Amino acid sequence: MRSFFIMRKMYQWWVNLSIFLKFAIFLGIVFSNPINMEGYCVKCRAKCEMAGAEQIEMKNGRPAMKGKCSKCGTGMFKIMSPKDAA
Ligand SMILES: [Zn+2]
Repeated sequence: MRSFFIMRKMYQWWVNLSIFLKFAIFLGIVFSNPINMEGYCVKCRAKCEMAGAEQIEMKNGRPAMKGKCSKCGTGMFKIMSPKDAA
């Protein structure tokens, strides 16, 4: 009976761990992948993918994204709303 109790404990521990791992992987995907950022390119005159996008902070403290157009290499800048910033 005691071994059953231990097994149940281990099973609960394993379930908690797998939930935590899935959550960690999800967070990793969300926060380590700013490459899919889109911005408006003035040279292409279209929405383009932002290459090497990185989050910066403007002088007034608002978050923004800085990168280069993946098609023509022109510098791109996108102001983010505070809710977009993680
Ligand atoms: Zn472009």
